[in-house]
Amino acid sequence: MSTTDRIIVFEDECKCGEGKFIIERSEPDHAWVRPSQRKWNPKISCSNCNKKYQIIERNNRFGIVLKEELKERQGIKDEIKNNTDKLFDREDVKNIINKFICKLSNFKNKIDIYRYLQKHHLYTNSKSTFYKTWESPKKWIEHNVFLLTLKKIIKALNISNDELIQEIEDIEKMKATTSKSLCFIGEPIYNKNTY
Ligand SMILES: [Zn+2]
Repeated sequence: MSTTDRIIVFEDECKCGEGKFIIERSEPDHAWVRPSQRKWNPKISCSNCNKKYQIIERNNRFGIVLKEELKERQGIKDEIKNNTDKLFDREDVKNIINKFICKLSNFKNKIDIYRYLQKHHLYTNSKSTFYKTWESPKKWIEHNVFLLTLKKIIKALNISNDELIQEIEDIEKMKATTSKSLCFIGEPIYNKNTY
């Protein structure tokens, strides 16, 4: 029978002083614990602070962030996903992708497809990897329909659609704002590696 060990690895007074910020670590209670079996569970045992703050993990460090900022960021991420889905659902985008599949299908040899994709910065791996992994134009598109790829495809096909490009760039800008990491309030409170 196996049980779980729970150890409080961090405990400190919360911001308002009414409760505590706690980080608990749990792991199976036997001698052969693998690091992947360890789990960290941050908690805020204060109803005031729990409304305002959240403890999150980043690069093995735990820190406190504002819940509001976290929510705002999630909101932007949802918007990015929505806008991207909508974009790939547009008739003109579907046409572009079909045109590109047609273009690739018209090449006689695999090597020509490889050279074409490389020329337009749509393929960066080695020729041997390409030969090993290439299945069909349709399959390739399925695995490579990203905003960045779409932009390059538009360019490769010499299509002028400023409005669409603008739309893609707007989403890219939103993405850039979420890629910066959220600031911890003060120093990280706990480093997993100190254990
Ligand atoms: Zn508090």
